[in-house]
Amino acid sequence: MTTLAYLHDDCRDHLTPQGHPERPARHDAVLRGVGAVDGVVRREAPLGADDDILRCHPQRYVDAVEGAVPAEGTVALDPDTHLSPGSVAAARRAVGGVCAAVDAVLDGSARNAFVGCRPPGHHAERETAMGFCLFGTAAIGAVRALDHHGLGRVAVLDFDVHHGNGTQDLLWDEARAFFASSHQMPLFPGTGAAMERGAHGQIVNVPLGARTGGVEMRRAWEGPILAALEEARPELILVSAGFDAHMDDPLASLMWQTEDFAWLTARICDMADDLCEGRVVSTLEGGYDLAALEACVAAHLRVLEERGR
Ligand SMILES: [Zn+2]
Repeated sequence: MTTLAYLHDDCRDHLTPQGHPERPARHDAVLRGVGAVDGVVRREAPLGADDDILRCHPQRYVDAVEGAVPAEGTVALDPDTHLSPGSVAAARRAVGGVCAAVDAVLDGSARNAFVGCRPPGHHAERETAMGFCLFGTAAIGAVRALDHHGLGRVAVLDFDVHHGNGTQDLLWDEARAFFASSHQMPLFPGTGAAMERGAHGQIVNVPLGARTGGVEMRRAWEGPILAALEEARPELILVSAGFDAHMDDPLASLMWQTEDFAWLTARICDMADDLCEGRVVSTLEGGYDLAALEACVAAHLRVLEERGR
């Protein structure tokens, strides 16, 4: 079996204003991280199809995003979220990558996969781009697994330092999709309180205080999240892999270290081995310190590759 990495150079062409943390240099850091791990099979991320995006966003929203793309320079959809001429192609690579990864893992041609595309996706709500995100990549992959492949249950696990409000919005009414997130609170986007449980009680939110380190993180995941995941019995686990809980990240103040991301990846793989034949599809979210991002991508992929053999 194999570990696949879906990448595309279009993801360097999503431009943001000078000084913006979600910048093209992240793409190169991800490539260096992937390149540090032997045995990973690289694939070009295809462009995401309308059919896949429309499972989570209405046509009028897609039209509005595409219609706002400038001929040159950048335009702001909100103070954080920007479009350049290459932005929609980059976001569609992320969607296409996660859908292709879901297909490959479900048809047995790979054990697991990582989609290293930007912009991230987990803040994009049904009709609102926000938090650097245009399309809800992880949720789109989850709904493809349910509606296209006919799975009965899937899970999305989000360890980005920010709450995955978009994924939560897109999956709120979806009884077949378990969603769990740990995140710093208070912090952008302000959602993710433990009382937010989804329409069917299928959502688990674990807010963490500023300066939470690896010991407390491990306790949070071993306790409420992985116990609830076991009960949810998913047939596929998707991961919103944000690396901005790293202690060096400039956007937040958790104190996770690179080995904490490796530990968490291994525990997710343990659960996938027990529940769903090791099937994991991970997609990049945040991570804004370039050295930490590169190291964490490598650590995450090294575990996926070892467990995917
Ligand atoms: Zn984040």
